[in-house]
Amino acid sequence: MKDSNFLKENNARHFWQPMAHPADSQKNPPTILTGGEGVSIIDVDGHKALDAVGGLWNVNLGYSCDPVKQAITDQLNALPYYSTFRGTSNDKAIELSYELAQFFAPDGLTRAFFTSGGSDSVEIALKLARQFHKVRGEAGRTKFISLKQGYHGTHFAAASVNGNQKFRAAYEPMMPGCFHVPAPWTYRNPFDETDPERLAQLCVKALEAEIAFQGANTVAAFIMEPILGAGGVIPPHKSFMPMVREVCSKHGILLISDEIITAFGRTGSESGARHWGVQPDIMTTAKAITNGYFPFGAAMISGAVAEVFESDTTGRASVDQGYTYSGHPVGAAAALATLAEINRLRVWENAAAQGDELFAGLKKLAEKYDVVGDVRGGEGLMCALELVSDRATKAPIAKHLPLQVQKATYEDGVMVRVSGNNIILSPPLVITSDDVAKILSALDTGLARL
Ligand code: PMP
Repeated sequence: MKDSNFLKENNARHFWQPMAHPADSQKNPPTILTGGEGVSIIDVDGHKALDAVGGLWNVNLGYSCDPVKQAITDQLNALPYYSTFRGTSNDKAIELSYELAQFFAPDGLTRAFFTSGGSDSVEIALKLARQFHKVRGEAGRTKFISLKQGYHGTHFAAASVNGNQKFRAAYEPMMPGCFHVPAPWTYRNPFDETDPERLAQLCVKALEAEIAFQGANTVAAFIMEPILGAGGVIPPHKSFMPMVREVCSKHGILLISDEIITAFGRTGSESGARHWGVQPDIMTTAKAITNGYFPFGAAMISGAVAEVFESDTTGRASVDQGYTYSGHPVGAAAALATLAEINRLRVWENAAAQGDELFAGLKKLAEKYDVVGDVRGGEGLMCALELVSDRATKAPIAKHLPLQVQKATYEDGVMVRVSGNNIILSPPLVITSDDVAKILSALDTGLARL
């Protein structure tokens, strides 16, 4: 390994980091990681910290998951790559499609379209939604509706359905035909409604109004995260997604459940849609599908949607889309081993139990520190603390302060993530009660720093 100074200097000089201002690597140098062990990460200076970020919501089984590592090595020795474009397939991708169809059977999803990551999954989901309507002879259904504060990725289509200006403004104009409605976010919403159930109803009404305004027969799909993640962990009231499902079905609009974060256990259920008792038409997955060890994803498609494509005789249903790495055999092998571990450990159960403990602890911290304006979570292992300078006005805390909390928390042995004025927690789903206590104690130290 190159020495610490070499790495720090060249990170600033040559490595253009994503989701960052290019000058930032100089001004706020990143933590440079060189190791991972159990649920912890180790930096270039040898400091070890419990990873309460779980990589980026994806290392759900931790950093020492030997079955996945072994599967990757074995597959590299068997077949390191081949394309799955028409004419060739591979054993691991086929086996994985079978296993995913079993895992997502209660969600009604029976076909897997493989991708190289989350944005790719969203891109293909949106394209398939438009094509689905064209194949059915409703070519006018091209529009997409999504939630404000929602995050769906960085490709132009995904970014166009994103509901946060931060990820759009520099790249506008976005794709035409994408519209946004308010998210059921009790802490901040245009209705000033604080009751989650009433807010859910208002948001569904807003969705119905938007559909009526656009014309239902022009809308292809509604895309939403079952629990908004990158937007600051926003769990809706349990009635929200079922109501959205009903509205979509009533108007012939496909429901895409974007589960890049929520699939495979994070919410305390096997999927976010199942958590709310809903069957989507398409579900996007990535991240935890390979435990973060290999870039991979899958858009899962319902039997009913697949049937429309499969029974087409006009030729309109040819899906002339796909990625060089769709169904990558090494990624598929990694996903197979990951899925086997997820099922063996039933990680969603631990996520639910530890998530409850973490959420309860965070609420106690909020009682202690005025700077915590809102605590969100309570649905598995995804939580956020929203930091404000004034609880009455909810004015966000000065920009540099959450980073100070993060720094102090890290020095105390726990890595947390800062997103705007939120501290986000999405630890591996295999953490223990002791780990939860450690996260809470380090956050206490971090918040005290303010
Ligand atoms: N959708 C959601 C809900 C996500 O959280 C993310 C990534 N955080 C994406 C899409 C994009 O995934 P990727 O970064 O792998 O392209």
